[in-house]
Amino acid sequence: MRIVTAIPEMTRLVKERRDRGETVGLVPTMGFFHEGHLSLMRAARADNDFVVVSLFVNPTQFGPGEDFREYPRDLPRDMEMAAREGVDCIFHPRPEDMYPQPYLTYVEVGGITERLCGAHRPGHFRGVATVVAKLFHIIPAHRAYFGIKDAQQVRVIQKMVEDLNFDVEIVVCPTVREPDGLAMSSRNTYLGTEERRAATALYRSLRLAEDMVRGGERDVARVISAMRELLAAEPLVETEYVEAVDWKFLEPVSELRGEVLIALAARVGRARLIDNTLIRVE
Ligand code: AMP
Repeated sequence: MRIVTAIPEMTRLVKERRDRGETVGLVPTMGFFHEGHLSLMRAARADNDFVVVSLFVNPTQFGPGEDFREYPRDLPRDMEMAAREGVDCIFHPRPEDMYPQPYLTYVEVGGITERLCGAHRPGHFRGVATVVAKLFHIIPAHRAYFGIKDAQQVRVIQKMVEDLNFDVEIVVCPTVREPDGLAMSSRNTYLGTEERRAATALYRSLRLAEDMVRGGERDVARVISAMRELLAAEPLVETEYVEAVDWKFLEPVSELRGEVLIALAARVGRARLIDNTLIRVE
């Protein structure tokens, strides 16, 4: 497995592969790998001849007062894990190369960035869209892999690809969970023992929503309030939002019909955790 830091070298390497007729898969990450990341790498490995994993803790997607500095980092461990998955190349650029100063150009996706995490993390999706657009230029891949755990991010990338005509297929992969249901996240390392136990409330509230829908409930307000009640029963969980939105434009719905995303964010200790379920109602 190769590790590349220089942007021109990364582009050259991928273009060489493409010229030979090979397919290229890209897995964008911020590192500190867990099974969620590995599942994307496995999907990319299965579909493509050449697999690149980008590892970059992107400063522009963190707001002031967020965890950019403390975000967990362990490059040697990540390299070992990626190598074990048969990844061909890790792209680990320097921040000063990704953002030459003064950096002036950003990608803004409107509409679908206004709610959910977008409403609580101003500028976050501008940072995400910008870095992913840059990665798509640096690494002209045939396919790029994203986890639905970050559902709003998936929609933002899909819309950006559609609106700006990026020639890349977006592959969406399911959420990988701990045995007790907690969605895997690099930020789970922030949780103390009691917080870790309390954090399962996020998953439990989503299962409750799914059970209610399965039982015939179609009223969004009732589902959301039952979820909020479950979350409120955990004093260590501070709910940020619980929302039901349509999957396409992430606009609020009042009735469960079609493809509905139920998404939530909560603080548990110093971790801000998100999770969601995509519900299809005929
Ligand atoms: P991150 O390093 O947290 O920015 O995540 C990199 C990619 O891994 C994103 O596409 C995430 O959606 C995806 N990812 C993170 N956690 C999970 C998970 N538990 N299951 C599946 N994919 C995940």
